[in-house]
Amino acid sequence: MDFNDTPEEAAFRARARGWLEKNAEPLDPSKVAPNEMGEREDAATIRRCKAWQAKKADAGWACITWPKEYGGQDATPMQRVIFNQEEAKFRVPPNIYAIGHGMLGPTIMAHGSPEQKKRYLPSMLRGEEVWCQLFSEPAAGSDLAGLRTSAVKEGTDWLLNGQKIWSTGAHFCDWGMIVTRTDPSAAKHAGLTYFIVDMHSRGIEVRPIKQINGASGFNEVFFSNVRVPDSNRLGAVGDGWRVALTTLMNERVAIGAGTGSGRFKDLLRLAKQTRRNGRPAIEDSAVRQKLADFYVRSKGLQYTGYRTLSALSRGQIPGPEGSIGKAVGAPLGQQMAAFAVELQGALGAVADKELAPQEALWQEAYLSAPGLRIAGGTDEILKNIIAERVLRLPPEIRVDKEKPFRDIPSGNITK
Ligand SMILES: Cc1cc2nc3c(=O)[nH]c(=O)nc-3n(C[C@H](O)[C@H](O)[C@H](O)COP(=O)(O)OP(=O)(O)OC[C@H]3O[C@@H](n4cnc5c(N)ncnc54)[C@H](O)[C@@H]3O)c2cc1C
Repeated sequence: MDFNDTPEEAAFRARARGWLEKNAEPLDPSKVAPNEMGEREDAATIRRCKAWQAKKADAGWACITWPKEYGGQDATPMQRVIFNQEEAKFRVPPNIYAIGHGMLGPTIMAHGSPEQKKRYLPSMLRGEEVWCQLFSEPAAGSDLAGLRTSAVKEGTDWLLNGQKIWSTGAHFCDWGMIVTRTDPSAAKHAGLTYFIVDMHSRGIEVRPIKQINGASGFNEVFFSNVRVPDSNRLGAVGDGWRVALTTLMNERVAIGAGTGSGRFKDLLRLAKQTRRNGRPAIEDSAVRQKLADFYVRSKGLQYTGYRTLSALSRGQIPGPEGSIGKAVGAPLGQQMAAFAVELQGALGAVADKELAPQEALWQEAYLSAPGLRIAGGTDEILKNIIAERVLRLPPEIRVDKEKPFRDIPSGNITK
């Protein structure tokens, strides 16, 4: 495990920091980092995001690992991590591009035609067009290959009908990547085809979902005879599962790279500032014991994250650390938030940023944490992955894998 930058990495970090210092406002270290989850985007925020991304693109700091021909710098994954670490020390707009840049761009690079790469990648990199992922459906989440949104060929177009759900950012996105069923007589993984869809097409209805934290970050998206030209197909007809796996693999790497010590410092500061029984809460031995437990687990996560960084630095593909990081990190984040809210007593029920300690960071985290245990693979699915692919335990029995999709029993009587 490498804890320090190599001399080249240190020089790169200094260069990134130098540019950020000239172009962004540093965070005040005495305050908590802004809790911008990328979920409350109004038109003004979207404009700020686009302006920041264009500024980065002009200076050569956007999607730096992408090939130069699409506007990137052919940088190493480790250099991207270093830039992200430095950028996180500045007050910059929320990252509305994570899905496009981290998952969908790489999918177009792997499976797109030369025309598709030329048309979509440069504007995605500059942030002029924002992208969403249209995979999950009401009856297809963990079991994504059970999806039912259909695409039927009509001339040189495809007609899409069905419903997607939990589509992050679909309400402000210009383009979406969608997996559809094109052959119900094939086995469930074999009858799928992947498309790029213009989110402004006629027949698309986006309905934001109101979340418990007050935000509406994701949506239901309905497709009624939506026309998609065959030139927007990504990969071959029937090869959608393979293309979707590229997206999902990149999602895992992106989530894995996000591991770190989280918010422990903020929690420690809260325990010092909050009073219990007339004394600072930090002096209570039960509070100290709890903090020690969170500290040990946060550090374990941080060092597991370093293993991923070390692998990236050596040019290796990260191993299963991504799944482990999320399987441990998401429940830990939820437990820390619950403890912080409890520590605040009656004030824990107040989510007003002006009134609650630390700009209501913990109230927000408490309400958002359950979603993070589901997004990008639920706790149970991550444990299945670790059991099957890391520990090599016997796989789950999948009785429907080889059957024609239309013969799999379901509650859908119109099938
Ligand atoms: C914040 C957030 C953002 C999201 N953004 C997007 C997005 O942009 N685009 C998109 O397409 N989707 C998105 N999703 C959807 C996400 O991918 C799904 O919610 C997730 O895959 C789980 O699917 P599901 O909700 O249908 O739950 P289900 O798959 O129905 O699971 C229900 C429960 O059953 C358990 N379970 C299911 N299968 C198994 C199994 N084989 N073994 C053991 N337990 C099992 C699950 O762990 C879970 O507890 C988002 C979700 C969240 C919370």
